[in-house]
Amino acid sequence: EGGTERHTYDVVVVGAGGAGLRAAIAAHEAGARTAVVCKSLLGKAHTVMAEGGIAAAMGNRWPEDGWEVHFRDTMRGGKMLNHWRMAQLHAQEAPERVMELEDWGALFDRTEDGLISQRDFGGHKYARLAHVGDRTGLEMIRTLQQRTVALGIDVFMECTVTDVFKQDGVVSGALAYWRETGRFVVFDTPTVVLATGGIGKSFKVTSNSWEYTGDGHALAMRTGASLINMEFVQFHPTGMVWPPSVKGLLVTESVRGDGGILRNSEGERFMFDYIPEYFRAETADTVEEADAWYEDKKSNRRPPELLPRDEVARAINSEIKAGRGTPHGGIYLDIASRRSPEFIRKRLPSMYHQFKELADVDITREPMEIGPTCHYVMGGVEVDPDTQESAVTGLYAVGECSGGMHGSNRLGGNSLGDLLVFGKRAGESASAHAAGLGARRPQVDEDHVRAARASALAPFEVEGGENPYSIQADLQQSMNDLVGIIRTGPELQEALRAIEALKVRAASMKVEGHRQYNPGWHLALDLRNMLVVSEAVARAALAREESRGGHTRDDFPGPDPAWGTRNLVVRLDAAGTGVELHEQPLPVMPDELQQYFESK
Ligand code: FAD
Repeated sequence: EGGTERHTYDVVVVGAGGAGLRAAIAAHEAGARTAVVCKSLLGKAHTVMAEGGIAAAMGNRWPEDGWEVHFRDTMRGGKMLNHWRMAQLHAQEAPERVMELEDWGALFDRTEDGLISQRDFGGHKYARLAHVGDRTGLEMIRTLQQRTVALGIDVFMECTVTDVFKQDGVVSGALAYWRETGRFVVFDTPTVVLATGGIGKSFKVTSNSWEYTGDGHALAMRTGASLINMEFVQFHPTGMVWPPSVKGLLVTESVRGDGGILRNSEGERFMFDYIPEYFRAETADTVEEADAWYEDKKSNRRPPELLPRDEVARAINSEIKAGRGTPHGGIYLDIASRRSPEFIRKRLPSMYHQFKELADVDITREPMEIGPTCHYVMGGVEVDPDTQESAVTGLYAVGECSGGMHGSNRLGGNSLGDLLVFGKRAGESASAHAAGLGARRPQVDEDHVRAARASALAPFEVEGGENPYSIQADLQQSMNDLVGIIRTGPELQEALRAIEALKVRAASMKVEGHRQYNPGWHLALDLRNMLVVSEAVARAALAREESRGGHTRDDFPGPDPAWGTRNLVVRLDAAGTGVELHEQPLPVMPDELQQYFESK
């Protein structure tokens, strides 16, 4: 291909969600020539779908809130596997990042005193989520996008990155293709910031959309970096279960934060039966106390519906399994009988429309039917907590595709904070690294470009192979059934065998037609990533013989203190065709932070 399109930058950010845009703004402001590359339209990222809010200990509703409490909640929510330094930086810097968004034009809901309003979410001791109705992500993306455009940062839309190049062990560039024309683009850049979001599309029932195929996770592994905490996948307790076309679509936790409760088919408010020992001291154990909490949060404990997500999702799963599910295989989420129609329409406008339009259910009059849905991956690229740099010099990861911040379970609202805090840090460190190189910029090796292009085009050359859609469907089914919310050793082994077989099928998959807008080809390229990332999840899940946070083993039902001291790290194996695992002790928390956990 003569005359491949080529661009030179100091920082190339892959992904235009909150993390990518915040990183790009920081890099640009630090003086780096910066580009953002995203595989769908600008603004169409997961971030835009975020409903509930941004967790930040601003103390607007509760003056007693502060970073120390937020830090403690985050660590406890993650069952102490989080990287303490990331949880600390996040808790310390999130309020500043929220204020900055407001300076840039974001319009948050207000308290009666005119401060930024903060709402309650599971696992957070105080009302702490800054929000805009149930459309917080939309406002966040609108603000960041406007700033990106106003600053004149180059944006490559509908352009998918397939490879990161290295020279002498450090990043030298990246390869991408335009989705519309199928033509390649080479970026000469000493830094790449991965901000590609999650992996949920490898599961059948998910709140994630088509882009979330774990590209950043896979790119990092293929470049020589490692992933951490991959066994921890968050199943959100409340996804729609009906109609089938929208199964998995998210129902925000704000419904429960604002008074919604869960009931089984017998009408029983079952969450009181599922309060774990770990959270007993801070959870209401009677209906009276739980209901009183909404009015008087000082003298009552929180309702069990607001336990961390892993606890609630498991409880719902158990009720459905025990035969107390709804006609469509879910559980009832009821706010209609608890709040006025005006309140519901004002606080939860998107949910009201979502159910009305998609399921013909009026949530101000009837309960919703909901069930767990694959939502978020805690695991991601292992990075330095202060700079977000991976083990490969010049390769950074931020947002959902990075790991460590959330440990075994993420608290609601902590992702949006994560994007802003670490997006800024990643952009600044990448830009400083590029600036420090001077004339020693690594060069892209043309042989690597040729090889990457040939590998991307290989599916066009196959005779008589299988199409990628059937392979993807089988992968989604296997991950859902065998690596889902409740896991067992034999099922995880079966999943690994299934993934091996899918890899063989994928090696000879075929795509029809030409390179111009060809979704089959795009999927074939995504599948390479989905398979290696799914293998990482399944292998780590098989190795961790305990239940903790987002990882539940039916054959090892409790947490094991020995596993509470180590994390699992995944790398590509020497052959480059599979993954290998090793255990790593947790980073040691300094005494001054340790003190927050001594008295529960
Ligand atoms: P994303 O916003 O997912 O963006 C990823 C970007 O990468 C996209 O631009 C995509 O096109 C691009 N991309 C991917 N692969 C490639 C590639 N190969 N080449 C080029 N570009 C690529 N969190 C909260 O804290 N509070 C909430 O209230 C909340 N609500 C949520 C509601 C829903 C329905 C969902 C799905 C998630 C919610 N979350 C919430 C989680 C949170 O929204 C996400 O974790 C977060 O937005 C991820 O942001 P990100 O910037 O890491 O990635």
